[in-house]
Amino acid sequence: MLQGKCAVITGSTSGIGLGMALVLARQGANIVLNGFGDHEGPRTEVLAADQANGIRVGYHGADMSKPAEIEAMMAYADQEFGGCDILVNNAGIQHVAPVESFPVERWDAIIAINLSSAFHTTRLALPGMKRKGWGRIINVASVHGLVASAQKSAYVAAKHGLVGFTKSVALEIATSGVTANAICPGWVLTPLVQKQVDARALADGVDGEEAKRRLLAEKQPSLQFTTPEQLGELAAFLCSNAASNVQGQAWSLDGGWTAQ
Ligand code: NAD
Repeated sequence: MLQGKCAVITGSTSGIGLGMALVLARQGANIVLNGFGDHEGPRTEVLAADQANGIRVGYHGADMSKPAEIEAMMAYADQEFGGCDILVNNAGIQHVAPVESFPVERWDAIIAINLSSAFHTTRLALPGMKRKGWGRIINVASVHGLVASAQKSAYVAAKHGLVGFTKSVALEIATSGVTANAICPGWVLTPLVQKQVDARALADGVDGEEAKRRLLAEKQPSLQFTTPEQLGELAAFLCSNAASNVQGQAWSLDGGWTAQ
């Protein structure tokens, strides 16, 4: 159980980050939510997930492409929650286009949000974690941190970078009581993937259900989407004592995608 710990989860107003917040809240952790869009709805949901511990749930709207805003979010966690004990670097965006016509501004945004933000949060969280002799850094990478797909050059570059960053940090902190690991999901049916389902339906002239089946059949042998809840449970495991010696790993939850 995670009573008294504070989990800062970037990009947690939706999708996987919200799934992680719900599971960690159920384990008794205080939560700092982050992300765009409505945050009162997610905050109410996360508060309701905790039945027993009287957790606190805060929100900071930092834009993960802006280092100064990331600094303000980490300072908020320090001031309001006694520091960040569990850091989940989850915020991420996608853009699909061939490399020759990939919009430069999208490349820069993907590298900033999907990769560089984890550097900023990690450098700011580590001193406090080391002082306490306990901490967990969980980087939400992707199967695209391990293998590539066409037309996703920025995303694949950022996620491979995030897996490499995780390993390097893990080596630096190996004796400190802090662990750093990456989680590599396959397809998860969140708003980020729904856009790709819609694009596929349009391109192939099929309905949404058929587009989902086609996306899964191409890459994910289980033919099942991974769920935010399953990813939350994996994050909870990485926070447990059982995982205290899991260090620098990239853990897939991909229905067999990367086994092929
Ligand atoms: P999502 O679009 O549902 O959620 C993304 C979250 O990030 C939202 O809360 C959004 O507000 C936030 N966000 C976006 N830009 C931000 C910014 N600049 N600053 C702060 N917050 C920002 O997407 P998701 O599918 O839940 O993705 C979450 C993470 O999981 C991403 O890193 C994504 O690459 C990764 N991932 C997703 C899948 C999938 O199939 N959905 C697979 C592998 C990895």
